[in-house]
Amino acid sequence: MYKAFLIKYAEIAIKGKNRHLFEDALVHQIKIALKSVEGEFQISKEQGRIYIEALSDYDYEETVEQLRHVFGIVGICPVVLVEDEGFEKLCEDVISYLDARYPDKNKTFKVNARRARKDYPMESMEINAELGGRILDAFPQMKVDVHHPDIMVNIEIRSRINIYSEIIPGPGGMPVGTNGKAMLLLSGGIDSPVAGYMIAKRGVKIDATYFHAPPYTSERAKQKVVDLAKIVARYTGPIYLKVVNFTDIQLYIYEKCPHEELTIIMRRYMMRIAEHFAKETGSLGLITGESIGQVASQTMQSLAATNEVCTLPVYRPLIGFDKQEIISVSEKIGTYETSILPYEDCCTIFVAKHPVTKPNLNIIRRSEEKLKEKIDQLVQEAIDSVETIVVEA
Ligand code: ATP
Ligand code: MG
Repeated sequence: MYKAFLIKYAEIAIKGKNRHLFEDALVHQIKIALKSVEGEFQISKEQGRIYIEALSDYDYEETVEQLRHVFGIVGICPVVLVEDEGFEKLCEDVISYLDARYPDKNKTFKVNARRARKDYPMESMEINAELGGRILDAFPQMKVDVHHPDIMVNIEIRSRINIYSEIIPGPGGMPVGTNGKAMLLLSGGIDSPVAGYMIAKRGVKIDATYFHAPPYTSERAKQKVVDLAKIVARYTGPIYLKVVNFTDIQLYIYEKCPHEELTIIMRRYMMRIAEHFAKETGSLGLITGESIGQVASQTMQSLAATNEVCTLPVYRPLIGFDKQEIISVSEKIGTYETSILPYEDCCTIFVAKHPVTKPNLNIIRRSEEKLKEKIDQLVQEAIDSVETIVVEA
């Protein structure tokens, strides 16, 4: 029954003279999201509103589902757009809308009219009262409830009149592409996909780096990371995923360094390599799924040691989250089921029984000295042999 959607966005409406940039980015993201939907759409901007109008038959469910993944959208309102042909005609249109949309008339309602166009001959309050009366006449089972109505009948008088009563929540945030780009260190775990989602939600485009260690980590572990990137890409658009072969570096660290320091030293090399790719491809920061105290490599001392090798800012959006809070987000965004599949990622293979929890930076640096003979060459080889996968939803 709907041929159009009114898209509501909050945060981006307050961006002053940059507003049109944000709106354009949102329109762009909506276009990308609707590409895969059967049907032809026209998207237009009008006074702080974005309209999506179907020019052909289209799949309603699929359209809504796609829009629910576009950052920047706060509400998706299926809307009936009518020309202003006088108040009588408006009443007829509203009544036939309600009749079609709500077969069960045993409902309470409230009319909420707004005039964006002040030359309309009636004031909002007048419209509310008069239209409310007409609805009661047409559907005697319906009742008015101004506090908690089942149906909020929104009437917006603009160049066309907007009639809508449903607001489907969008993901909020800002349109991807309005805040630069960052490099996500993506593993097969629960945390890093959530971290990527959270930074992308602030309008940041995401690239990703995954470190694997064949044959210690399987092809399926790698596929799992690709699958996770695919789910995140529903929100972020295509993700350029760098797959780095980390085996030789890991084995070399294993051979030369104290085993209780393995994880920290490995993490430092991961950061160095991810930062290399970040700089090469224009990312302005790194993103990890770390959270204070979650594991030995995420104590304050460990985080400081890992952070020390980076010159770009490292964004850790989950830093203050408990595991359960992270899991809730991962369930909401749809990555959880994939994250808990059992394939090992490279960190879990080389973990020491008793990793240091309070690494001393001087000691770690001294251990890394033991790598100096071959490590630069191994890092260079890992960089040169990187595989880049473009992951699309
Ligand atoms: P996750 O669930 O995201 O794997 P985790 O709790 O297992 O996190 P760690 O293994 O200590 O934590 O990893 C901390 C962060 O380091 C991860 O959130 C991720 O950003 C990054 N990371 C860990 N392993 C890898 C990997 N193999 N490839 C890329 N990034 C990784
Ligand atoms: Mg992990």
